[in-house]
Amino acid sequence: MSWGEIQDTIVIWMPLLFFGAILVVLLMTVRSVPRTKPAPVEKDSVDNVSWSDVAGLDEAKEELEEVVEFMRDSKRFTRLGARIPKGILLYGPPGTGKTLLAKAIAKESGANFYSSSASAFVEMFAGLGAARIRKLFAEARKNAPAIVFIDELDAVGTARQGGGFHREHDQTLNQLLVELDGFGGREDVIVMGASNRLQDLDPALLRPGRFDRQVHVSPPDLSGREAILRVHTRSKPLASDVDLGVLARRTAGLTGAELANIANEAAIFAARRGAGQVHMGDFDAAMERVLTGLQKRRIVTEKEQRILAYHEAGHALMAHLMGDLMPVQKVTIIGRGDALGLAYYLPTEDRYLHTKEEFLDVMKVALAGRAAEELVFGRVTNGASNDLEKVTDIARRMVFEYGMSEVAAARTMRADNYALSEETKRMRDSEQARLTDHAYEEAMRLLGKHRGALDRLANALLEKETIDGEELKELLGDVAVESHAAETVGTVRLVAGADHE
Ligand code: ADP
Ligand code: MG
Ligand code: ZN
Repeated sequence: MSWGEIQDTIVIWMPLLFFGAILVVLLMTVRSVPRTKPAPVEKDSVDNVSWSDVAGLDEAKEELEEVVEFMRDSKRFTRLGARIPKGILLYGPPGTGKTLLAKAIAKESGANFYSSSASAFVEMFAGLGAARIRKLFAEARKNAPAIVFIDELDAVGTARQGGGFHREHDQTLNQLLVELDGFGGREDVIVMGASNRLQDLDPALLRPGRFDRQVHVSPPDLSGREAILRVHTRSKPLASDVDLGVLARRTAGLTGAELANIANEAAIFAARRGAGQVHMGDFDAAMERVLTGLQKRRIVTEKEQRILAYHEAGHALMAHLMGDLMPVQKVTIIGRGDALGLAYYLPTEDRYLHTKEEFLDVMKVALAGRAAEELVFGRVTNGASNDLEKVTDIARRMVFEYGMSEVAAARTMRADNYALSEETKRMRDSEQARLTDHAYEEAMRLLGKHRGALDRLANALLEKETIDGEELKELLGDVAVESHAAETVGTVRLVAGADHE
């Protein structure tokens, strides 16, 4: 070969070799990159969670019992034309046992369980969140009876904020809505979701046929905390000085997850000491560690609890004094914020006829929390702002819409009536204030008159944290009704409870 020929060969082959090498490297990298297909959906194992592992959530469990029964034997229900809710939303603060509850339902009902956390969807590449949801539902349908569980729904389900750039978020949410709507005919697939805050969820998710059954999972009360501690110390050798009741009393405001954490830390302390049993001292140390890790706000001081107890006792006692208008279902000083609370439903014009006296009674009940605070502690906290909003709303409607003010009886002075003179407007506003003041004075007077019953109720609340309607009747059995409402038309449902954050 002449030098020229060698040169030609090199010129031809070198680039080929070069590109060949690059090709090989490329192929190798591509193979090691994760496939951009959603990972296969697999049935989750729920073997280690049973109904009895979920403690202190009796109300939620009772509500969900029906779902368990249905999944066990759906034909029994469908034969009679019964329909079971398709979408069930568990909502409540973090760590209260929503995920635990969903797993327990799956285990108990024997249904196949497909779960995914919505927070994982939003971290995925474009389009994958939606694909994953599609897959999840397809798989569940194929393997019915099944439960699809979407945890941490807030991650995709929060209301869309005015045309942002969250396309991935929207695609995922839309796919979820499509799937929820798409299996209306199926009776053997149930969707469950978990969310920390109901208010933040996109309302589209809560529409009929979607997550239309909502179950509140609340932080545990005294007996609930004791039950949770019992579950989490089941497999731990406890020394005889350990009193779970005392521990429960000292952990007001803590969630199940935090209590589980305390039980675990206590065992660790004991093990490090080389002890054979977990002692009360270990729990003390564990509690201190867990509590210091929490925000201050979370711990309810004894003083705060007293104020709360009187506040809620005020509402409940006043509701009792007002007779049958507002039967109290439950009073509690646990579970502040989020949907629990003084939830009475204002009568609407077209459904009930209500008298002026009845509206005043409702106002007295709403103001009684604040009045009790003033009566007992001589000052009020900022806790009553929610109550005041409600009262303002009632007073406004009485004056503006129902013509129930004395000065302008039988005349309505609606806000949208522009023909009103300045003078009329002033009168209207002062009438509203007068009604509110009147109701507040009455609330103060009645609570003062029944101070003994108020103390009794507040003490019972401090003792048990939650009192149901029956117990309330027993406690207040001898206290006569003081309502002026002539007759009651319809009732207003009332849950007096920790209604403010
Ligand atoms: P959430 O989903 O509401 O945030 P989790 O179900 O994840 O709460 O709870 C975390 C852990 O805390 C559970 O695995 C369990 O160990 C414990 N826990 C929480 N609530 C309860 C409860 N009600 N009963 C027993 N354990 C609980
Ligand atoms: Mg969870
Ligand atoms: Zn209140």
